[in-house]
Amino acid sequence: MDLTASDTERLLRAECRLWLRENLPWEYGVGLPPRFDSLEAEIHFGRTWQQSLAQGRWVGVGWPQEYGGRGAGPIEHYIVTEELAAARAPELVGRIGVNLLGPTILANGTPEQRSRYLPKILDASEIWCQLFSEPNAGSDLASLTTHASPTEGGWILNGQKVWTSYAQFADWGACLARTDTNTKAQLGITYFIVDMRSDGVEVRPLRQITDESEFNEVFLNDVFVPDDCVVGAPNDGWRIANSTLTHERGVNPRQLVIHSQLLDELLRLADANGSFDDERTAARLAEAFVELRIFQLHNWRAVSRTSRGQDPGPVGSISKLWWSEMSKRLHDVAMDVVGAPAPLWRGAQHDDGDGTWQRSWLYYQASSIWAGTNEIQRNVIGERTLGLPREPKR
Ligand SMILES: Cc1cc2nc3c(=O)[nH]c(=O)nc-3n(C[C@H](O)[C@H](O)[C@H](O)COP(=O)(O)OP(=O)(O)OC[C@H]3O[C@@H](n4cnc5c(N)ncnc54)[C@H](O)[C@@H]3O)c2cc1C
Repeated sequence: MDLTASDTERLLRAECRLWLRENLPWEYGVGLPPRFDSLEAEIHFGRTWQQSLAQGRWVGVGWPQEYGGRGAGPIEHYIVTEELAAARAPELVGRIGVNLLGPTILANGTPEQRSRYLPKILDASEIWCQLFSEPNAGSDLASLTTHASPTEGGWILNGQKVWTSYAQFADWGACLARTDTNTKAQLGITYFIVDMRSDGVEVRPLRQITDESEFNEVFLNDVFVPDDCVVGAPNDGWRIANSTLTHERGVNPRQLVIHSQLLDELLRLADANGSFDDERTAARLAEAFVELRIFQLHNWRAVSRTSRGQDPGPVGSISKLWWSEMSKRLHDVAMDVVGAPAPLWRGAQHDDGDGTWQRSWLYYQASSIWAGTNEIQRNVIGERTLGLPREPKR
């Protein structure tokens, strides 16, 4: 692994940093995005911000130029993601489309699907959601029961999805549905693009422990989906879904930078309030520092492999497992360092804190569940890296 940046990579980083200095609506690297009174206001702001990023061609840098990308490689994508996080730019409002479903359409869609959907994913003029999980099909996704039957010119979908992030704002959903019940579970699934404004789509927001409602239940009642909204061939949806899931667990420079910033803040706080005097807290902060460094090296190793065209293998699972558990430990020690004000809720007006840490602690509890639970990641690592016996097939 060669860690020396090439001239082109250095230039790209400088160009991105300069663009951010000139275009961020807050002070580069120090200021924070505004706080919003509602998720609706945050989404509205996020769409405008992503549109501006897309105009600068800082979204989907790895996508082909004809769809609005830069045709760049994984290292360039890594650099830009790192710079955006370092500038404390908010996460892309259309990240599900940009990071998961766009790349899936790029790899498996028809030329018409690529031209129709990809440019609007990049500038967030259309937002996407992922209609995969169901009440009885999460880790064991292949057991999903949402059903699609053929009709003239398309398909009729019926069923229920759950935990669908941003469905209430989404224009399109990538939906897995069963199209053949007379075969092995994995072989009878089709990958559909569902217009979220269609008749029969009902979205019910779910309230989370953070008091926000980012994810939803989605009910599909006789929803018509035209034939040109099937991605790939009918019954080939499982293979395509797996390409979406691989993107979900890839390298994660954004989480690396965010958690480094969190640790920096925590170290400043610990220094100010005497937390380093407590040996146990000091040791846990040192561990957090080391864990972040390991995560950084792991990210570099993974991006180096993909940039050489090598199969990243189970590195996505290792990365996801590592950062999510590291995040929980970091947030636990944060609660100790923050001390008495730790339970304050978001927006509190208190000399010793505004409740940000409490919200962050609660939010990251879910990190061991989303994008495949950590137990599932351990299974993948056990089977594919360590060569342990496979789970019996269902
Ligand atoms: C914040 C958040 C956002 C999400 N957004 C989306 C989204 O936009 N779209 C979407 O489709 N889904 C989304 N999900 C759903 C997520 O993918 C599922 O929650 C996840 O796959 C787990 O499924 P489940 O909740 O049904 O749990 P289950 O699969 O029922 O698992 C329950 C427990 O059993 C364990 N378990 C299950 N099988 C095994 C096994 N074989 N070996 C060992 N342990 C096992 C699990 O690890 C878990 O601890 C989101 C989840 C979260 C938390």
